[in-house]
Formats: sequence, C-alpha cells, structure tokens
Amino acid sequence: MKTKLYYNESSESKFLADILSNKLKREGIEVTDEKQDIGIAIGGDGTFLHMVSENNFNTDILYIGVNNGTLGFLTEIKPTEFNEFTNILKNKDYKIENISYEEIKVVTKENEYYFKALNEVAVRDEYLSTTYLSVTIDETLLENFVGDGLLISTPTGSTAYNLSGNGAIIYSELHTLQITPLAPINNKVYRCITNPIVLPENRVIKLYPIERTKDLIILVDGKKYTIKNAEYVEIKISKDKLKCIRLNDFDYTSIINDKYLN
Ligand code: NAP
Ligand code: MN
Repeated sequence: MKTKLYYNESSESKFLADILSNKLKREGIEVTDEKQDIGIAIGGDGTFLHMVSENNFNTDILYIGVNNGTLGFLTEIKPTEFNEFTNILKNKDYKIENISYEEIKVVTKENEYYFKALNEVAVRDEYLSTTYLSVTIDETLLENFVGDGLLISTPTGSTAYNLSGNGAIIYSELHTLQITPLAPINNKVYRCITNPIVLPENRVIKLYPIERTKDLIILVDGKKYTIKNAEYVEIKISKDKLKCIRLNDFDYTSIINDKYLN
C-alpha cells in the first residue's frame, strides 16, 4: 500500500504532513511522491479538491482528507487522531464510498474544451453583466435563464457554493446534478425558475448563451476560465466514480450538524 500526502502552503500543514509521514513509515506503510494507492489531503476542502484534480480524477486511488483548521467538510480525520488513522489504514478497517463528479464540455465555434469538477461549475457572462442562458435537459427546453449565472453542482459540491445560492444539501451517496440560479431576474419582461432543480444521474444539461451573452466565464471548482464565442456548455455526471475512504462511523447527518451548526 502506497500513500501520498498533499498539503496546502500553511507551515502547519507541512508540519502535520511530516508527523503523519513518520507515523505511516513506522507502521510499515510506504509514503511516495509517485503513483499512490491512497491520497491523503492535509488542509481543508481546497486541498482535497486540489488532490483530486492533480490526479485528474483518477478512480483507482482511494482519497481521504485530514482537517487542519478550515471548514473541511470533505476532510474526516483530525490531526489528533493520527495513531488511530494509521491503524485504520494498516488494517483496511474502513468503508469506501463512490462519489460522482461532473464532466463538462464547452463547445465554441473553433474548439472543444473538457473539464472535470468535484464541486460544481458556475457559468456567468464574461463581463459579469446579466447572463442569458437557454437551459435544456436532454435537448428539451427547461427555461431561458436571466440573472447572474447558473451553478451546476454535484452532491459533494452541494454544501459549497451551492449552499450560498440557497441550493439543497444532497447526501453524498446520491448521484444527482443540481441546477441553482444565482440572482435570477423575474419581472414583467423576464421569467425564470428561482428554485434549485435536482436531476437524476443520466440527464444531460446544456447551457446555450443567448441574447447579449456571447463570451462566458466558467468557474470549475473555483478555477476561472474565459471562453470566447461559446456555443454551449454541456454538463453530465461521471459514469466513473471517485472512491473515498470513510471511517466506519461516517455519518453524513452528523457532519452537516457539526459543520453548519456547532
Ligand atoms: P475557498 O475560497 O477556500 O472556499 C470557500 C469555502 O468553501 C471554504 O470555506 C471551503 O472550505 C468551502 N468548501 C469548498 N468545498 C466545499 C464542499 N464540498 N463542502 C463544503 N464546503 C466547501 O476556495 P477553495 O477551498 O479552493 O474551494 C473552492 C470552492 O469554493 C468552489 O468549488 C466553490 O464551491 C466555493 N466557493 C463558494 C463561494 C460562495 O459560497 N459564495 C464563492 C466562490 C467559491 P475550506 O476552508 O476547508 O477550504
Ligand atoms: Mn479553501
């Protein structure tokens, strides 16, 4: 079993990585800089997202996170639990949960671009002016959206940006996409859906820029890309699933309670 550690720039995360690395080695668990079986992110959710993206969403790796002070919704292990954690890894005493990510295709007049997201993609007008998007589900018109933009999030991302847009929290064991409007405009002239919509896993969402919207900004797990002359953005859920290590007592309900109410 080979583990690889990922940490953010904080000196404390680096320090924790050294401690964990030594503990793992002492228990006979290899720590590598190369191909790993288990990826361990030490930091917050940002570090976890970074680890998955650095591995190009490789579905052979088992992922787990250690929380180091930030929100860390995706990071189950506390630095005070390193001894227990090392034993858990050594004895493979855990569950594995399959979680969905998103596959995003952007088609322009000249090119096609491909992205993957664990949390969400946010689609907005390039100049952050009103965003006009025609939304189809399996090529059937859902609505012509007018507002700041649209978020398409996974269950994992449902507790991130989506939550600030009043989207629903979706349990991570479900495989759905959620469309959440950002500041939708509704008046005599414009009508669009103001509530989030949750879709089953095999649907394909397409967003076509219309009216004054030509160039887009897309934010993929918070990373910004500018797309000129976009014809459409297609979003679907991955057939392949990421594998996350969950402790035997993992309980989504108590994580929600802990992260948002305690
Ligand atoms: P960041 O600015 O540190 O993230 C903002 C907050 O979102 C942090 O508290 C982060 O936790 C938390 N977060 C990230 N993924 C989460 C998840 N799956 N569940 C619950 N909380 C989560 O930037 P980042 O760490 O690189 O994360 C990128 C994400 O930030 C984007 O994918 C987007 O979801 C989110 N974001 C949110 C808003 C908003 O709510 N208005 C705006 C832009 C981006 P940590 O502190 O532990 O990293
Ligand atoms: Mn962060």
